[in-house]
Amino acid sequence: RKIGYAIVGLGRYAELIMSKFAECDQSRLVALVSGTPEKLTRFGEKYGIPASHRYSYADFDRIRDNPDVDVVYVILPNALHAEYTVRAAKAGKHVMCEKPMAVSVAECRTMIAACRAAGRKLMIGYRSRFEPYNQLAIDLAKKGFVGPTRIITADHGFNAQPNQWRLDRKWSGGGSLMDIGIYSLNATRYLTGEDPVEVSAIESTDRSDPRFATVEDRISFLLRFPSGIEATCVSSYSSNHNMYRVTGTQGWIELEPATAYEGQAMRIRRDGRTEAQSVPVPKGQHAGQLDHFAGCILNGTDPLVPGEEGLADMRVIEAIYRSAREGRRITLG
Ligand code: NAD
Repeated sequence: RKIGYAIVGLGRYAELIMSKFAECDQSRLVALVSGTPEKLTRFGEKYGIPASHRYSYADFDRIRDNPDVDVVYVILPNALHAEYTVRAAKAGKHVMCEKPMAVSVAECRTMIAACRAAGRKLMIGYRSRFEPYNQLAIDLAKKGFVGPTRIITADHGFNAQPNQWRLDRKWSGGGSLMDIGIYSLNATRYLTGEDPVEVSAIESTDRSDPRFATVEDRISFLLRFPSGIEATCVSSYSSNHNMYRVTGTQGWIELEPATAYEGQAMRIRRDGRTEAQSVPVPKGQHAGQLDHFAGCILNGTDPLVPGEEGLADMRVIEAIYRSAREGRRITLG
């Protein structure tokens, strides 16, 4: 049996995700939720979703009566993630929710509790965990291929286009850190397998740029992990960059781009030599993510990136903002 997904919010990323079900073995698209009737018709016709399986936000809760829907995949602006996750759980559905999980630690906790109370699974859309180059980097770092990890450098940014919800704090919860810097942060956590214990951050935003009236542009942060690993991370909304490097005592492992949709490239420096490393990519990361969660539901197993992962990132994000605001180091318990 294939697991049935309903997509909530038919924006740009949802459009990409809808196209990826064709690559899936265990997942299928069965329902659509949108506030725009034209999109429901257009995508409904494109993907063969009948009118009975197309919902508006107002009648979303009726999804509980649709046995074809196993999972609700929330791809809305960040400030709506919590509401739709809770409503989906109350409708008896498993939930896949996009990153960032929500706009606060408190919301993340509410979402986890709602899914637990409903006996439903919750997974966050951390697609890089299903991307083979990132998987190899995690494996090599864990094995100490370039010696024990000492330093991680992670840079993520893109040039934000004006006039969108991402630049309105009410809908996004914050600027580049919430959207793209979270890839730097999440990578440091999956490459170390640890949660940071100390955070220090500085923010640089040109408030005269109309894009940055309510959200930050650049925010750089330093993380200290329990084993002594340090991470130096960059997040920006005013330049395009996407890479990380894991530096060990004997060399380094670098991915650039690291967390893009495709085109990952790896270089490894060891024993004084730098070499490119290529990895087979049998299945795209998006289909890998969808099928992983389908497998968890079919087999009764836990997702690799459950709500607790989104919560862990959000705790650090709140500490990063606090550190930048208060101009001091923040200790995380
Ligand atoms: P988008 O603006 O293209 O789409 C958002 C959708 O939400 C639109 O269809 C819009 O009509 C709808 N919407 C409903 N209520 C809205 C409201 N009050 N204000 C604005 N839009 C509203 O955005 P997107 O790029 O698709 O991002 C959606 C989510 O997906 C975000 O949480 C984002 O972080 C995440 N995302 C993840 C990835 C990834 O690689 N994992 C990539 C892009 C986006």
